[in-house]
Amino acid sequence: MVDALIVVVLVGLSAIVIAVGCALSWQRHRDFPALRDWAVGSALIAPSMFILGLLDQEGASHLPMLAYVVVALIYAVFWSGVRRLTGRERTWGLPVAAGVVYLSVMAWFMYRDPDFLARVATTSVLGMLAAALLATELLTDRRMRGHRPGRLMIALLVQFGLFHAARAGVLMFADVTGTLVFDVLRLLTFVELVLFVVGGGLLVIAMANERTMHRLRRLADRDELTGLYNRRAFMRTAEEALERARSRAGELSLILFDLDHFKRVNDTHGHLVGDQVLRVAAETVMAALREADAPGRYGGEEFCVLLPGLGIPAALEVAERIRGSLEDVRIDTPTGPLRISASLGVSGLAHGAASVPDLLALADAALYRAKAEGRNRVVLATPAVEATAPARQVPAES
Ligand code: GH3
Ligand code: MG
Ligand code: MG
Repeated sequence: MVDALIVVVLVGLSAIVIAVGCALSWQRHRDFPALRDWAVGSALIAPSMFILGLLDQEGASHLPMLAYVVVALIYAVFWSGVRRLTGRERTWGLPVAAGVVYLSVMAWFMYRDPDFLARVATTSVLGMLAAALLATELLTDRRMRGHRPGRLMIALLVQFGLFHAARAGVLMFADVTGTLVFDVLRLLTFVELVLFVVGGGLLVIAMANERTMHRLRRLADRDELTGLYNRRAFMRTAEEALERARSRAGELSLILFDLDHFKRVNDTHGHLVGDQVLRVAAETVMAALREADAPGRYGGEEFCVLLPGLGIPAALEVAERIRGSLEDVRIDTPTGPLRISASLGVSGLAHGAASVPDLLALADAALYRAKAEGRNRVVLATPAVEATAPARQVPAES
């Protein structure tokens, strides 16, 4: 069989490499402490494997006992890491209780009734229970189930738990001392350990990267004040939606709207209240939309909403719903409740728009008419000619 020393050295090295990888990644993602836990847990594996893989045989000795303490610590650290992935509080009652029970059993089989196989089986039972607990922690977390690294981590824990359940079963119910089965089992245990430590470490690093990417994407795509798509992200989303609508011969509509007399709000109540109004307007619009609709802040106090799959009549209904909701808004200010309204322009593919800028120009012209006709109203674009008309003329009033 493969030389035990070589296997132990290889496992130790893999654990150290992953520990270094997680530590380096933690330098970059200080707000992702699971990386530090995984680094510490992996680093502790090397010395404990050395002791357990090479020195722990029949007979009482304090060195393996020390290694078992480290094993208990390793599980506690991994437990902490996994629990942090779900953002839950770490309570130490359970791991401490489990550690005390485990070490008591190990001390019994070390000093009172020395039994090497019983110790190995007990360690497997600990591995099985820890994996089951950790897998449950992740399974009950919606975000973890929602992305691939999370699901892979769950799968990794489940197979680790199943392996140790089988290993404990074999050791408890079959006499395998000195047989080939024992050697194979030992080799598999080390393979399993490498898989768990290396695979888990890479997954934790992947999760940290995924979260950072998600945050950066959000920063790049969202308007800071309202949380809606910014203009660039809105244009990209609109181009994609137009492409899809074309390939499926589907509908697509667009609403462009502008808050009425917003300058007065700023002038009367100050910019902070103005900002608050913009946030409330954004929330109000979002509440009036479906999941598939994409609202964006086009600029200043001008907003746009993309309505994939909706034709003109449905888009008009949505626009009217937005107008009504904005009209119902009351914002408390020191000088009494503040009310707002908006003028909306609606355009759709049925107007003959060939591109997103066409759709915007059509809606913009309709919005201009809504302003000119007295504000707080919805105006539908008129086909073709308006698409090539100047985007915005000087408003009749204001
Ligand atoms: P109209 O009904 O014709 O649209 O009149 P209006 O006053 O809303 O139009 P105008 O374009 O003259 O004013 C828009 C104002 O919006 C001017 C600008 O100071 C303000 N504004 C733009 N962005 C922000 C912002 O982020 N915060 C605040 N508080 N005000 C903003
Ligand atoms: Mg404006
Ligand atoms: Mg305005």
